[in-house]
Amino acid sequence: MRTLILDSSFYPVTIVSWQKAMILFLSGRAQVVDVYQEIQVRSPHKQFQLPKVLRLFNKHLGSKEVRFTRFNVFFRDDFACQYCLKKMSMSDLTFDHVLPLSRGGQTCWENIVSCCPTCNAKKGNKTLEESRLKLQNKPKRPKWTPEMCFRLKKEDPEEWFTWIPFSKIPLAN
Ligand SMILES: [Zn+2]
Repeated sequence: MRTLILDSSFYPVTIVSWQKAMILFLSGRAQVVDVYQEIQVRSPHKQFQLPKVLRLFNKHLGSKEVRFTRFNVFFRDDFACQYCLKKMSMSDLTFDHVLPLSRGGQTCWENIVSCCPTCNAKKGNKTLEESRLKLQNKPKRPKWTPEMCFRLKKEDPEEWFTWIPFSKIPLAN
């Protein structure tokens, strides 16, 4: 069981284990917005319903950094090859170093793009100019959004969809 955490202005911040959620709640740092009706948790003195959504009293979402992960790169690129714009599943997409590693390119937001296997083969160890491929978007570090950073599972509660615009997210298995 997991709990969705909102900041004080009801903006989704993160998803935590129910144990962590209980600590936030019992220490008075958060209020319950929604509960798992069917699940009770016992402390030595009391009995609670397990929180499904909690709101932190004192937290405003600052500028959070998006983690540089496989999923987040694909998500930034809308699961499309950045050369031919073909959309693909995560398992079929590959990464391309715009400036190849062998030419001093780095593995970072600004130099990594989602790429289909066909374009990747064409690009090989070439620079953009040498390959004559055209980048459709300039790769950069994306802004933090909950859709990017939360991986939802099929068994996660439907109520969370009230708080997060999840329509763009492929469900994790
Ligand atoms: Zn392509």
